Amino acid sequence: MMPGERTLSKAEIADALKAKGCFHTPEDGGHFVGVSGKHLSGYYNIDPALPDVELMSELCRQLVEPFKDAGVEVVFVPAIGAIPMAEWGPYHLRELTGRKVAGVWADKVKPRGFVIERTGFEMALKGKTVLILEDIVNQMFSVTELVKLAKGLGCEVVGVGGVMVKDTASAEAIGVPKLVSLYDFRYDAWEPADCELCQKHVPIVTDPALGHGQEYKEAHPDYEGGYTTSVGHSE
Ligand SMILES: [Zn+2]
Repeated sequence: MMPGERTLSKAEIADALKAKGCFHTPEDGGHFVGVSGKHLSGYYNIDPALPDVELMSELCRQLVEPFKDAGVEVVFVPAIGAIPMAEWGPYHLRELTGRKVAGVWADKVKPRGFVIERTGFEMALKGKTVLILEDIVNQMFSVTELVKLAKGLGCEVVGVGGVMVKDTASAEAIGVPKLVSLYDFRYDAWEPADCELCQKHVPIVTDPALGHGQEYKEAHPDYEGGYTTSVGHSE
């Protein structure tokens, strides 16, 4: 959505993300396998929203608006799904404040972490007042790593804005003054041996867009609850 158009309410944002397939709440009845191998009762993913440029623009406008008086000079995001937010965030901050704002991202490194490695990015960030944006704030790992990187460059971090934020995340835990969320989510997570959904024989979702159920299926072909390609549909 471009400047001047009607903005979305929080409920409309949730509806838009739901319609795109960006989340499945525990009430939707899904049974997922996360990247950690844990079994999950919900699943959250920004990817289906990324092709909708107007929606991404509007989400970023709403995330930066609460920081318009914070003197933000740089918007800093973790690769990969949040990269468009390093463009739309600064764009909307300038629309709101009249001041030019830079946008940079940190690249992923294996096995787990982030690094500022692109030409000019460290220079753009050094010593600046920084806002961190992220698509999904779950275990707070990515945003906490970015806070460390920014502080290591002498930056002041004014806060974090997340499109979808787990109810257990907090500004205090991340170590920033403010955390803004457009959609608060929750789900249960269990080690496979303790999973309540396995005990109830709920089929595990194997769609590769929704976690690692397919790998689990290959390792556990005899799971009594069976497998399904998508939430709410049996094979
Ligand atoms: Zn399970």
